[in-house]
Amino acid sequence: MQTDDAYDPPCSNAAAPPEEIDSLPQPASGLVLVSTPIGNLGDITIRALDTLRHADLVLCEDTRTTAKLLSAHSIGVRCEPLHDHNEDHRIPGLLERLRKGAKIALVSDAGTPLVSDPGFRLVRACIAEGIKVTATPGANAALLALTLSGLPPHPFLFLGFAPNRDAARRTNFAGLRAAEQAGLAATMIWYEAPHRLAEMLADLATIFGAREAAVARELTKRFEEIRRDTLPALADYYATHQARGEIVVLIGPGAVETGSDADIDRLLMVALESMSVKDAANAVAAVTGTTKKAVYARALKIRHN
Ligand code: SAM
Repeated sequence: MQTDDAYDPPCSNAAAPPEEIDSLPQPASGLVLVSTPIGNLGDITIRALDTLRHADLVLCEDTRTTAKLLSAHSIGVRCEPLHDHNEDHRIPGLLERLRKGAKIALVSDAGTPLVSDPGFRLVRACIAEGIKVTATPGANAALLALTLSGLPPHPFLFLGFAPNRDAARRTNFAGLRAAEQAGLAATMIWYEAPHRLAEMLADLATIFGAREAAVARELTKRFEEIRRDTLPALADYYATHQARGEIVVLIGPGAVETGSDADIDRLLMVALESMSVKDAANAVAAVTGTTKKAVYARALKIRHN
């Protein structure tokens, strides 16, 4: 039997305490962006907890949500709200405290601050003032969904939440499809609310056509699910199954193609719901690589039918 004395660790670095690794020490002051879990409370890093424990102030979206996290780790630190509605107003006072040497941690309700969450304006203001900004990285729903989707991991384009209103969302998707026709070839990623998922997928299927896609739900939680299929199949599925929980939608890169007449008409019908004949024809011509004149003639026919 091997005794402790005889034990030789398989990798001598494995036992090295964190301070012996080439790591950034805890900053004494400045702004620290602290990532928190996106559902599984185990997904918080040792550095994140250390930063929160030694902060003078924690800025958070909802003080009740962050209080739960802090109390689960017995951290008693002052929390104040920072959200889209008060960020601009709060920046001068926060800069003042940071200039005096405070260490301020910024968290969001879940995941990585700034990613579809508040903090961007504060970070820019700190950078402009020469105040140190650093981060303790961690969970992020978009990147986790990307790595689990089976879709090409790069290049990728993270688009946050798509516009809520139908017309704005379709115009936005048509613009992205036009960018693809101009050469963009990336996996695209959106956050979406469950009650809007079916409509969003229907619009994506209409505008981007048949291609690989994925819907990632409840990542890191008990009912984690990644549904991988073609875009029309996912649209059909969620047309009859009400999605629940938190959701990331991904579509794979598409090929640049010249549209068939049927494709052009399908895109025109969507575009004409929110655009003039001329604008719809221009947008669809850009998307399909067809001449504006030919698409305009088809658009006129559709409008007058
Ligand atoms: N800052 C967060 C991050 O780093 O992922 C995102 C915040 S954004 C306000 C919240 C959205 O992220 C949700 O509506 C959902 O689309 C996505 N999301 C957050 N947690 C998720 C999870 N566990 N599974 C799937 N999507 C999630």
